[in-house]
Amino acid sequence: MEQLIYFDYAATAPVRPEALRAMTDALRRFGNPSSRYEYGREAAQRVKADRETVAGALGCAPGELYFTSCGTESDNWAIRRGAEANRRRGKHIVATAVEHAAVLETCRDLESQGYEVTYLKPDKAGRVGPERLAAALRPDTALVSMMLVNNETGAVLPVAECVRAVKAFDPAILFHCDAVQGFLKTPGPLAGLGADLVAVSGHKIGAPKGVGALYVKKGVRLRPLLTGGGQEGGLRSGTEATAQIAGFAAAVRANLAQPDRLERTAAIKEYALSKLKQAVPRLEVVSRGDAPHICAVALPGYKSEVVVRVLGDRGVCVSSGSACHKGRPSHVFAALGLPKPWLDGVLRLSFSPESTREEADALADALKDAADSLFTTLS
Ligand code: PLP
Repeated sequence: MEQLIYFDYAATAPVRPEALRAMTDALRRFGNPSSRYEYGREAAQRVKADRETVAGALGCAPGELYFTSCGTESDNWAIRRGAEANRRRGKHIVATAVEHAAVLETCRDLESQGYEVTYLKPDKAGRVGPERLAAALRPDTALVSMMLVNNETGAVLPVAECVRAVKAFDPAILFHCDAVQGFLKTPGPLAGLGADLVAVSGHKIGAPKGVGALYVKKGVRLRPLLTGGGQEGGLRSGTEATAQIAGFAAAVRANLAQPDRLERTAAIKEYALSKLKQAVPRLEVVSRGDAPHICAVALPGYKSEVVVRVLGDRGVCVSSGSACHKGRPSHVFAALGLPKPWLDGVLRLSFSPESTREEADALADALKDAADSLFTTLS
């Protein structure tokens, strides 16, 4: 395969060289952090330092951060155990209709266990505001789940304002934020949002797949999702994935070493959008995305899966919506009320600070060729 032109960073990001080095080192020094001899204690020390690094980037204390296997696990833990912790209040949950499947499917599973879930439809920009959220709260609401950055539109939801609205209604309602697409991609530390629970994932920021974390605000008590040897303060058993955790911390440090990463990412996204519009005038911008790294466009009349395949054959990687849809139409764009021809032709483009103008030019050329060749085939 020729060189990849990669514009699918919201699906996953390449492992940063710093993360790779840290992981290789951790894999060589294979001690179990629970072992009582020096080799184990040294592994435990490294996990402690890595926890401090990731917690520092989230703006929380190390004792409030629990390593998990992925963002999905963090979301599951937060929602299942958060709802359970507030069972005495009732069995009502509020979530936005544009959450990731890791949240929505968990809510659906809880519905099958007697919970009632209110799914809030977004406005045209893909956001749900504090007034709409407050209106959905009830005396039996146990938990609210709202993502920070939508993985398909790049919309940034007003989480901090929504937390304030929920806490003004009743401070006992737990607020969970899926910040998998927001970690190190939005300004300010995530703990500052005020949510009780915040889920993040390593592979979106240049760490390997197989590691995530859940921030649990001091004072919030969750039962473990996994029971066993009592690792992670007894709340998430399982021998620590020392190499993944080392890669996670190294990727965090590498991101923090690029203080201009958000501006650079936003600039390349704007450049790509203008190039794409020039190259393919019938392209519609569905969402420019408030977050620097994600936007959505549509080629009305085309099937996005076909366009993605044709681009893929040319070594250009974009997504026909979230990589987790597996061919189903996107619930997010459906919730935005996009007309059917747009809905069928939606493409998600996502960027990193390393994306270049040359790559954006190549994307625009490839999309023009793909649109022309498909148009000829269709007509
Ligand atoms: N939440 C959001 C918003 C996501 O975009 C994703 C992954 O795409 C997840 C959760 C799941 O994260 P992970 O792939 O680490 O399980």
